[in-house]
Amino acid sequence: MDASQRVALVTGAANGIGKSIALRLANDEFDVALNDLAQNAGLLQDLKEEIEMLGGKVLVIVADVTVEEEVKRMIDTAVKELGSLDMVANAGIMVFKSINTTSLYDFEQTMAVNVRGVFLCYKYAGLAMIASGTKNGRIVGACSFAGKRGSSMCGAYCASKFAVRGLTQSYAAELGPHGITVNAYAPGIIDTDMVKRIDAAYQAHTSSPAGALYEWGKTLTPLGRTGTARDVAGLVSYLARPEASFVTGQSIPVDGGAFFD
Ligand code: NAD
Repeated sequence: MDASQRVALVTGAANGIGKSIALRLANDEFDVALNDLAQNAGLLQDLKEEIEMLGGKVLVIVADVTVEEEVKRMIDTAVKELGSLDMVANAGIMVFKSINTTSLYDFEQTMAVNVRGVFLCYKYAGLAMIASGTKNGRIVGACSFAGKRGSSMCGAYCASKFAVRGLTQSYAAELGPHGITVNAYAPGIIDTDMVKRIDAAYQAHTSSPAGALYEWGKTLTPLGRTGTARDVAGLVSYLARPEASFVTGQSIPVDGGAFFD
């Protein structure tokens, strides 16, 4: 095993933003470990084959990021097979409902994936990095512009993404002395399956035509467009590079200017 070879573990890599990040980091010559739920094992296998064509090493690790033992096993396996790793805690879910119609189950599921999942991935990746003695580790999480400002129809989701900002700031403070940076991306509306599902819910809620969420999203940004998963992957690629070593604790917007920090 080449100790200088960079390795990235990407959760929720079967679709959307996670898939794009895995492809981008593989193009940046990282070896990658691809994680998602068992139901998406086939999509992970397809992505593995696509990345192997680029020449890098790829490992598929099915795990549910809400389950502590599964996250530990995932990180142990990635370290054993590929070497010390960087972490992209991308997996997340969204429920498009007002607080008044959000059930306790909806709320707890959102918190389980978006907060507990990120907490477990941060914690066990951080412990593995400290054990490896790395001085340039990278942890990146999935925040959102919904983690910067609350809005209607996504109270549980906003709360979960505010929590990701808190975890990111706190762990950056703790891991700085180890030379490890902890940051998050805070996307606006990015065209993925998640947003297609929300668009369908938005149509039902507002009696508007298909694509209305995208049209609304365009009006939020000075650039007049919604984003692509590649827009987010470009930011993660930067955060993973040596020249980003002085950036830590940030949840960086990649939202076309929808939210000015
Ligand atoms: P997506 O639904 O297209 O993909 C998410 C992936 O995460 C899926 O493959 C899903 O199976 C996986 N996943 C869900 N629960 C999991 C679990 N418990 N364990 C392992 N994997 C799990 O979503 P996306 O749009 O690509 O979003 C990726 C991340 O970016 C999420 O955290 C999301 O909240 C965040 N984000 C997305 C947008 C957007 O507009 N798409 C905006 C802001 C933030």
